[in-house]
Amino acid sequence: MSENKKGLLFVLSGPSGAGKGTVVKELLGSEPMELSISATTRAPRDEDEEGVTYFFKTKEEFEQMIENNEFFEYALFGGNYYGTPKQYVLDRLDEGKNVILEIEVQGALQAKAAVPEAVLIFLTPDTVKELRSRLEGRGSENKEQIEGRIQRAMEEIEYISAYDYIVINDKVEDTVEKIKNIISSEEAKAVNNRNIIKKFKGEY
Ligand code: ADP
Ligand code: 5GP
Repeated sequence: MSENKKGLLFVLSGPSGAGKGTVVKELLGSEPMELSISATTRAPRDEDEEGVTYFFKTKEEFEQMIENNEFFEYALFGGNYYGTPKQYVLDRLDEGKNVILEIEVQGALQAKAAVPEAVLIFLTPDTVKELRSRLEGRGSENKEQIEGRIQRAMEEIEYISAYDYIVINDKVEDTVEKIKNIISSEEAKAVNNRNIIKKFKGEY
């Protein structure tokens, strides 16, 4: 067995409407991977469920968690705090499980600084026109909110050079396949398989 082998950390970002939620759902259905549930101060939406989509916190509670050093990373986004609880991520990685965070760019950069071997993936449709059409099709934001998200997408795309992989989300099943290929390539890297030497020599 892969004794002492730690899990790998994958970070998925991309503009709102890129298809992150859709792709992660498909991925979790077919790949052993733990999704970290974030804490946020934003108000729950109809589709939200406490402890399933997010842990909903007041601003005071969230700031207390920051004070207690409970976050792996956190950021202010659209006037609300979002953060990844640290213990869950570190425990799963220690257990040898792969973990995925679905977070925005400032948080992704913090994750890379904390865990340099983290694998950063940026998911996007190939044009802003397609992004707009997906946001309009989803129908969960009004016109003004869609404009705000498009504006933010224009800013976020400037950060792609900080990412390890760019995945164009054209067909969902192709996208999931591309991400699975990234996962297998990362798992096969020599740097992630140092324990093979001991196993090869029969030391455990
Ligand atoms: P995000 O989580 O990045 O904000 P969603 O997963 O909610 O994005 O997807 C936004 C909208 O685009 C949804 O209506 C979803 O069904 C649709 N969508 C997702 N992936 C694709 C794709 N590859 N092609 C066309 N539509 C997509
Ligand atoms: P939404 O409010 O639409 O659920 O999320 C808004 C943005 O916050 C998305 O880009 C999402 O990826 C990001 N986000 C969700 N959780 C976290 C988190 O824990 N940390 C950071 N930095 N961003 C997050």
